[in-house]
Parts: sequence; C-alpha cells; structure tokens
Amino acid sequence: MTDTEKKCDICGGRFENSDKLAQHIESHKEKNSKERPKVSKSSRYKATGIAAAVAVVIVTMVYFSDMPSTTIVPTPAVSSVPTGTIQGIQCDPMEGSFYHVHAHLDIIVDSKQVTIPAGIGIKSNECLYWLHTHNTSGVIHIESPAQTTFTLGQFIQVWDNTPGISPTFEDLTRGGKDLKVFVNGTEVNTSYGTIPLSAHDEIVLVSGDVPPSVPSSYEFGGL
Ligand SMILES: [Zn+2]
Ligand SMILES: [Zn+2]
Repeated sequence: MTDTEKKCDICGGRFENSDKLAQHIESHKEKNSKERPKVSKSSRYKATGIAAAVAVVIVTMVYFSDMPSTTIVPTPAVSSVPTGTIQGIQCDPMEGSFYHVHAHLDIIVDSKQVTIPAGIGIKSNECLYWLHTHNTSGVIHIESPAQTTFTLGQFIQVWDNTPGISPTFEDLTRGGKDLKVFVNGTEVNTSYGTIPLSAHDEIVLVSGDVPPSVPSSYEFGGL
C-alpha cells in the first residue's frame, strides 16, 4: 500500500485516493445496490468464516438452552394444535373459552337414574373438547371460542369417542333406542340428537317406563 492509497474500514478494500474511498463507502450504505463494494477473496472468506462461527455458536446455545426444559417437564409437551375434531367439536389444550355455559343431563332407565361418566370430552394431559363433563353430576360444560348452538347428538359423539370412557351412551341406554325426551319438564317429540344444549337446560332421557315425575330443572349453583 502506497502513502496515497486509502483503505475501507468496512471491507478492507483499497482505493487510490480519498474521493474514490468516499464513493466506495457510500456504496456500503446502499445495501441492495448492485454496485457492491469490491471485496477481496480472502476477506470474503473471512466474513463467511465469521458467519459460520456465529451460526455454530447460536445453534450450540439453542441446543443447550433447550436441554433443561426437556429434562424438567415431566409430562409430554402439550400440543398447541387441536387434535381429533369430532363433529366440528374441537379439542383445545386450554379451558377458559369465550363462550361458557352449562346444561344438565339426566338419564333414567326403568325409572332409575343412571350415572353419566366424568371426563367425557377430556383427554388427560392433552386437551378438552368444547363439550365435556368434569364429574358425574350430569352437568355438561359447553366451552367454545364462539357462541354456537351445540346439540345433545354432538355431546354423545364426543362421549363415545373419548378414549377410556365407559360406559358408552349406547351401553347406558339400550343402544339409544326408543328414548323419550324431556326438556325443562316438557316432553318433546324431536329426536334426542337434535336437542340444543342451551344454558341451564335440564334435559332428561327416559328409557322404559316414565317415572311419575321427571326433573324439570337443575340446581347449577354458581355454574
Ligand atoms: Zn364449565
Ligand atoms: Zn370445563
């Protein structure tokens, strides 16, 4: 390098005078310009080498930062993608939905009340369907991201397709045949599958003889 030669601090390129260097430095500022500064092969390799080293460091950091969480978490990671939608009813990893109401279901077989299983629509450690039961009270929780009219038929589909739930709806109701349907104490003549699940409805399905009195309401407490 002669006394008059100027060197670019950014890329190491050499220029015969300050004017040419100034012009050259301008070209660094235009990132997408086609007039890229002329970079010597050796410094280009250096830059590539540095980038590669940085990449290795980042990959290493990510790798090691991931290690503790995979060893601490005791249960399988919860998927953020809903799995196994049943008749339009999604299974979400979290509760606390926008629309949250409750209806109550009683099933009476030969004048005796039968128990509706807990955990219908709940895949443990995985997700909750928008229609589910938390216990054996017969309360159906309706929890969805939008206010929609769901039906008893959809709930029964969720019931029969939740892994590990027994008995099934058909087991409890002699295959669901010849059921009489009461909503809030009034017998309705529509098929039970189409009964809408509205807030605080008391739905009764009767198989066999109808008892002298059919529940017309349910004490939901704070629900
Ligand atoms: Zn609820
Ligand atoms: Zn719930």
